[in-house]
Amino acid sequence: MVYRSFIASKKRNEELDYLAARDPLTNCYNRRILFEIMNRDFLDLPQIEEYCILMVDIDHFKSVNDTYGHSIGDTVLCGVASLLQANIRTSDSVARFGGEEFCIILPNTTQEQAIRIAEAIRIKVEKAIFDDIPVTCSFGVTSIKFKARTPSELIEQADLALYEAKSLGRNQVVLCDCAFEEFKLFRSE
Ligand code: GH3
Ligand code: MG
Ligand code: MG
Repeated sequence: MVYRSFIASKKRNEELDYLAARDPLTNCYNRRILFEIMNRDFLDLPQIEEYCILMVDIDHFKSVNDTYGHSIGDTVLCGVASLLQANIRTSDSVARFGGEEFCIILPNTTQEQAIRIAEAIRIKVEKAIFDDIPVTCSFGVTSIKFKARTPSELIEQADLALYEAKSLGRNQVVLCDCAFEEFKLFRSE
């Protein structure tokens, strides 16, 4: 009896932990957990050989809301989030960073692999139809090789690359090459 109630309370605590870690709309990790994961990873910074992140933002999402309404916008947002979650490896993590912006952590991943992963997801989003609505995403990629010292610096680098992807016309993957203060653009077509 005591054992059964112990198991029930353990299960309940696990459920609460799960909910506390997630964004309720998209079921991705929330921002708090994103920083928790990255802070933990950065504790071993000198030992980290490869580590990349992607910042992903839906293109022209405001016009999806304006054209079809906020509720359909939510469905599209959840569709994109599910696609991101379905196309990462078990060691990777997807977090909702803000409104329609996501951060994907890619541990033990080279910048070349990260670019390939981003480009594969970009094409999948482009081909998908969410509630009859096609959307695209822009991607900013960065690697620990560019010498970020904190999770915030790494995110800032990826955000700069994302900003560049937007400026260059959206629906593309851009690597932030902070070592040379330039951006590299990738497109498989
Ligand atoms: P860009 O290509 O430059 O990213 O353009 P954008 O329209 O996507 O960017 P902008 O930042 O102007 O608009 C983001 C929009 O995302 C505005 C906001 O209403 C919408 N949004 C943010 N969070 C949610 C959400 O939870 N649900 C819905 N439906 N819309 C959201
Ligand atoms: Mg957007
Ligand atoms: Mg945005």
